Amino acid sequence: MSPETINENLSDIIARIEAARKAAIKPAAATTLVAVTKTHGPDAIHPALIAGQRVFGENRVQEAQGKWPKLHEEYADIELHLIGPLQTNKAREAVLLFDAIQTLDRVRLADVLRAEMDRTGRSPYVFIQVNTGEEPQKAGVQPREAGALIAHARDIGLPLKGLMCIPPADEAPAPHFALLQKLARDHDLPLLSMGMSGDFETAIRFGATHVRVGSAIFGERPKAQP
Ligand SMILES: *Cc1c(COP(=O)(O)O)cnc(C)c1O
Repeated sequence: MSPETINENLSDIIARIEAARKAAIKPAAATTLVAVTKTHGPDAIHPALIAGQRVFGENRVQEAQGKWPKLHEEYADIELHLIGPLQTNKAREAVLLFDAIQTLDRVRLADVLRAEMDRTGRSPYVFIQVNTGEEPQKAGVQPREAGALIAHARDIGLPLKGLMCIPPADEAPAPHFALLQKLARDHDLPLLSMGMSGDFETAIRFGATHVRVGSAIFGERPKAQP
């Protein structure tokens, strides 16, 4: 995709976010666009940086390690979010590279993140991923187990700030966003990461503070990628 097209897409998404916020009865105080750059290289990312975009999402630690350290040297104020599943053996690298980790979904990972934050002195803020559709193959804590994981993350002093979800691809997203919003309210968590290219306007109606938009900005990804 040409730099001009990426630029236009980005302005278009920013305008749609603003319009959705205006139309919403009770939008969040702010909605941050997380531009999702998985599978895309510096050629695609640079136009977004030049346009002023600073918050980005990647779903694989290794892929992110390959491109972001150099971009970070050019732009000191980048905020990088991990939005894909995290294995405990990659936790140290994730804590070193990312400014936010959106995919905490189990006690063991919480403990490992705590240890790596202590060891490295870094403390990326954390979202718990909730499997709102209770899909067997999908990452995320089950909704009925979210309370226990939230309590554990707080007990060990993780910088837990919010919840994240990816609704089932074949269902209307609104009930999933509503469930995530309710869980966040019940547990007094301020941030809600929900909404992607196809449904971020709906997510904003339910109070999204972070929307994660990839293909609507950078174009379709090769099919093998999630
Ligand atoms: C890829 C991805 C996105 C972006 O999806 P698009 O439909 O391309 O906007 C958002 N969230 C997560 C967790 C992703 O893996």
